[in-house]
Amino acid sequence: MELSRKKNFAILRKLYPFITAIFTGLIGYTGIFLYAKYQGRAFSTQTNYMAISHIDEIMASIYTIATTTLHLTDTDCKTTRPLLMAIVKNNPEIKSIDLIKNKQFFCSSDNQFVAKQYFNNLDRIPKVSYILFNQVFDMPYPNNNKENNAVIMVIDDQEIKHILEPRLDTQLVTLKLDNTNITYQGVTPYTKNYYTVKTPSLGQTPYIIETSYISPPTIGVLLFYYGKHFFIVTLLTIICYFFTRWVIKNISGSYYELHMAIRDEKIKAYIQPLFRAEDYQIIGVEVLSRWHDSNSTIIMPDTFIPLAEKTGLIIPMTQLIMKEVATTLAPYAKKLPDNFHIGFNISCFHCKDLEFINDCRRFFKHLRTNKATLVIEVTERELIEVNETTKLLFKELHTLNAKIALDDFGIGNSNLSYLYDFSIDYLKIDKSFVSRIGSDALSKNILDSIIEIAHNCKLESFAEGIETEEQANYLREKGVRFLQGYLLGKPMPINEFIKTKHFQQLITSSL
Ligand code: C2E
Ligand code: CA
Ligand code: CA
Repeated sequence: MELSRKKNFAILRKLYPFITAIFTGLIGYTGIFLYAKYQGRAFSTQTNYMAISHIDEIMASIYTIATTTLHLTDTDCKTTRPLLMAIVKNNPEIKSIDLIKNKQFFCSSDNQFVAKQYFNNLDRIPKVSYILFNQVFDMPYPNNNKENNAVIMVIDDQEIKHILEPRLDTQLVTLKLDNTNITYQGVTPYTKNYYTVKTPSLGQTPYIIETSYISPPTIGVLLFYYGKHFFIVTLLTIICYFFTRWVIKNISGSYYELHMAIRDEKIKAYIQPLFRAEDYQIIGVEVLSRWHDSNSTIIMPDTFIPLAEKTGLIIPMTQLIMKEVATTLAPYAKKLPDNFHIGFNISCFHCKDLEFINDCRRFFKHLRTNKATLVIEVTERELIEVNETTKLLFKELHTLNAKIALDDFGIGNSNLSYLYDFSIDYLKIDKSFVSRIGSDALSKNILDSIIEIAHNCKLESFAEGIETEEQANYLREKGVRFLQGYLLGKPMPINEFIKTKHFQQLITSSL
């Protein structure tokens, strides 16, 4: 089950870039789609106004011509006809004008009365009418009573068709006159398959222009009109894919690996013994972490501790090694000498709240004794904020029979106020000072001053990194109480450590 969970997680990690890319794409394309829809509406409204302005112009022209030509019924056709012809010639939207006088076809701009075929009965004819796409329409006119004289105009269908031509493939512009629907294809039955925007005419002739548009617009249309937007969204999607892949590989990848290592208990506790300087008696250990990776390589803490601290995994990682140490030493707990030091390194991440106190309690519970002294090593390299929480944390640790050691002393900020704020118990002199013993006078002076500070503050001092007899002798002579280093014992896995001569002697001698 563990294995399958791991497998699922790995598959999910592979899918993540796709998922984020698809998600980005979806948002982007939906945005374009909605924008196109909104634009479609705006565009259609604009189309309506364009059509209306043209048609109103034609209607106004019909109206003016009607007003002018109605008076021509007073004269004879011979005089009138050239005038009618001139009007038709100058107004391309009008194909012909027929005049009715005393309910009879009187005069036409054409050779024949074009309107004749549309009117059987001239008794009830409105004063002004027009013919468009073979349909007869009344023109609102003042005193539009059915009189003896009338004017009928045939409008150029092509002109209207041209006005009604859609501006986009996805549009359909309809002129609604009375109950007739006219599109660029002529009179059409009305089918409302589309989204529509209706706009009534602005002039005195009542009609409606209705632009229908296909929504959702087709991919082709979208690409044609929103190609730039599509390009940007596609580019963003690709960037998103590669960026997520990069994040997973470079950031969360290592996080994931470390997370898995902690879960699979691949972080191991290594033990380095600590010795009393005067008789080289083992007085405790420092626990150091090592990552046993799947290729059987051992990863050193300098590589993964910064990541663990950055990601907060330092907390479960420390819990893991504390548990390993406690459970491994538990069978020997009663045989351990009093105040046997077990040192753990913690980072400032542990000092954000008081949770670490519970980890320490759990440690003692696992170890099944309070005999051992838990030594908490806080490094001077990173500043731990002195506040109520940290003060309380260190106070509580002391009540739990834990001691605090200030690690790497001398290379950090040498913040002496720490010694009081956190009631530090031990100073650990950094190995960089130890390694320079005998090399130059300045290093010697610094080392001497550090040892002196410890003495003056009545703190016990540890020195780490002892590799030579000369270093060990020098430190012992200077009064450093505890020594640690490769000379005396290298870090080793805890299971090996408990088999060492040192440890076996320790548990038998304390019986
Ligand atoms: P540190 O706490 O100062 O630990 C002492 C380091 O010096 C260890 O390195 C140890 O292996 C090394 N050392 C001991 N004796 C000698 C010696 O004679 N010569 C030399 N050259 N080196 C010696 P390591 O194990 O690589 O750990 C490096 C640092 O990583 C530690 O420095 C500590 O700050 C951190 N670290 C290790 N384990 C943990 C952990 O579990 N939690 C936290 N927060 N930090 C850890
Ligand atoms: Ca340490
Ligand atoms: Ca150190």
